[in-house]
Amino acid sequence: MRKNAFIILAGGSGKRFKSNTSKQYVKIRNLNSIEIILNEVLNNENISNIIIVYHNKNLQILKKILARYKDKKIKIIKGGKTRQESSFLGLKYLKKINPKNVLIHDGCRPYIKNDEINKMIKIVDKYDCCCPLIKNVDLIRFKKRKYFFEENKEIYLTQTPQIFKYKIIYKAHKDNLNKNCRDDIELLNNDKYKIKFLKGRKENIKITYKDDIKFFENIFSKKIKYGIGYDIHAFNFNKKKNLKLCGVNINYYSVLSHSDGDVGYHALCDSIFGALGIGDIGHFFKNNDKKWKNKNSDYFIRYAKKKIEEKKGIINNIDMNFICEKPKISLYSKRMKANIAKNLKINTNLINIKATTNEKIGFIGEGKGIAAESIICISFF
Ligand code: ZN
Repeated sequence: MRKNAFIILAGGSGKRFKSNTSKQYVKIRNLNSIEIILNEVLNNENISNIIIVYHNKNLQILKKILARYKDKKIKIIKGGKTRQESSFLGLKYLKKINPKNVLIHDGCRPYIKNDEINKMIKIVDKYDCCCPLIKNVDLIRFKKRKYFFEENKEIYLTQTPQIFKYKIIYKAHKDNLNKNCRDDIELLNNDKYKIKFLKGRKENIKITYKDDIKFFENIFSKKIKYGIGYDIHAFNFNKKKNLKLCGVNINYYSVLSHSDGDVGYHALCDSIFGALGIGDIGHFFKNNDKKWKNKNSDYFIRYAKKKIEEKKGIINNIDMNFICEKPKISLYSKRMKANIAKNLKINTNLINIKATTNEKIGFIGEGKGIAAESIICISFF
């Protein structure tokens, strides 16, 4: 089957944005626009190739992003002087791949949806191209000297991604070099071509000013979920001292357990599965399965991390609590945080670890065991 390629135009340096970092790379919570777009498009089975057209200024940031994704679908190429030139460079690169269709998208529009992309892919079976539009509802005025006058024409706002039959848009670009078009549909905007205009989405705005970052942060902060986790194990006083908490080896009694008995990681895992709404650690790793006997809990955490990525979640913060008489948790919390940060690929300042004793009361108070609690907050796109 012939394929659909996706070009992300990130070649502009963003003069209106007034920041050293180009707008495509400014963080919206913990991800930038390019990462948010990649997270969506990489999950779309209809997309076979992704081309990012970059500006030299951002090559280093982009390389770091790609090192994290390590996906062969993604290729990067250097952009041109204008949007049209960058777009054509992307199309030229695709010549050897010869996709059936190509979607061309502004790298500074993070809020795209696979549903919409798939709808457009179907439409372009019957049309040469398809473009999302929003009908303007506000009263438009134009400025003439120092006065503003009413404009009573119908005004539409154009969005991306726009989709094209590859051969048609490639030829249109080749025949119209240096026309300096500000989007691609403009090149086919005449009776020769079958164009389908589609209703766009209001949220699919372009990051242009710094305020726009706040707009997206607000959208994403509304989709927040919390998860809670708890675990407890009894110390094994007959075994050699080899306690493990959040991956840190501690010179204290180890615990009775099927796996490595890391209460910290087990509570953390449960809180992640809870926030994702997918059950608990026992559901994924049965405690009577030989496969998980003495298993290093790093494995469970990395599995949970993969689940967060699948659900397009971003970790906002983690708060953990250890309950034990001994050992003294504060001696190890820095290393625990570093381990969690490494496994979940987040900054250590998003993690808090604290501890309390059980005031000599009950099983934990008598020093017979250790418990951990974890709460996590995750945003979703
Ligand atoms: Zn456990």
